[in-house]
Amino acid sequence: MAEFTLPPKSRVKPGKTHDAAGPDAKKKRAFQIYRYDPETGDNPRMDTYRIDLSKCGPMVLDALLHIKNSVDSSLTFRRSCREGICGSCAMNIDGTNTLACTKPIDEVKGDVRITPLPHMPVLKDLVPDLSHIYAQYAAIEPWMKTESPPPTRERLQAPEDSDALNGTDGKGPAACILCFCCSTACPSYWWNSDRFLGPAILMQAYRWLIDTRDEATGERLDQLEDPFRLYRCHTIMNCTKTCPKGLNPAKSIAEVKKMMVERK
Ligand code: SF4
Ligand code: SF4
Repeated sequence: MAEFTLPPKSRVKPGKTHDAAGPDAKKKRAFQIYRYDPETGDNPRMDTYRIDLSKCGPMVLDALLHIKNSVDSSLTFRRSCREGICGSCAMNIDGTNTLACTKPIDEVKGDVRITPLPHMPVLKDLVPDLSHIYAQYAAIEPWMKTESPPPTRERLQAPEDSDALNGTDGKGPAACILCFCCSTACPSYWWNSDRFLGPAILMQAYRWLIDTRDEATGERLDQLEDPFRLYRCHTIMNCTKTCPKGLNPAKSIAEVKKMMVERK
C-alpha cells in the first residue's frame, strides 16, 4: 500500500507581532493579517497587530487604515470609496469574502483574521491580481450593442424594463459593484477559472441579455453556450450567500440557463 503523508497544515507561518495598543488601551483587539511581498522572495506570513479600537472607526477598513497610518505603513490593501460602492476593499475577513468598509469589527469574535480574496494570485499583502477576471469581463462585451440606427435622443426604456436591471429593491444585476467576493467564493470558479466565467461575470452577462435596448441577445447566448463558460455552475450558492450587496448571482445564472433552454 502506498505511503501517505499528510501535507503541512498551512504554508502561511506566523509572522511579526506589533503591539501597538499601549498599556492604557481602552479596547484592545488583535488583527491577524496576511503579508506577502514577492520582491523579498519570502513565503507569506500572518502578522499580528494589537491595536486600541478606541483610536479607529467601527469597520474593519477603519482598523486597517489605522494600522497603515500609525503602526506599519508597509501594509498594502486596496480601498477607495469606504461606503460599499467601489468594491475595492473586498477581502476575506473571519473566513468570509466581504467588503472591509462595511464589515463591523464587532461582528467578529476573537482575533480578526484577514486574508486576500481566495484562489487569486496575490500581488502584495491583501491585493489580489484581478487581471484575469477583468479579461473575462471584457470577453462578455459589457456594453450596449445595437444594429438599429441611433435615435435622435437616447435609447429609451420602459420603467418595468429598467426595474428588471436594477431590481425594484435595488438588488438587480445592474447593482453589482464587481467586488468579486462571489466568484472567489465559488468552488467551481476555484478549479475552472481558466474556462468557467464565474458568478460575477455571468451576472453581468445576464444584465446585458435582459437589457431591452441591447440588440445582441442571440450572439451573447451563443457566446455562453459552452460546457465550461456557463454550465460549470453547479448551483452551490456560495456566491449568493457571500455577496456583500445582497445580490443573487446564482439566480441570474439560473435565468441564463433558462434562456438557453427557451430559445431551442
Ligand atoms: S451557484 Fe454556481 S456560480 Fe454560484 S457558487 Fe455555486 S457553482 Fe459557483
Ligand atoms: S454579485 Fe455581489 S459579490 Fe459578486 S461581484 Fe457583484 S456585488 Fe460583488
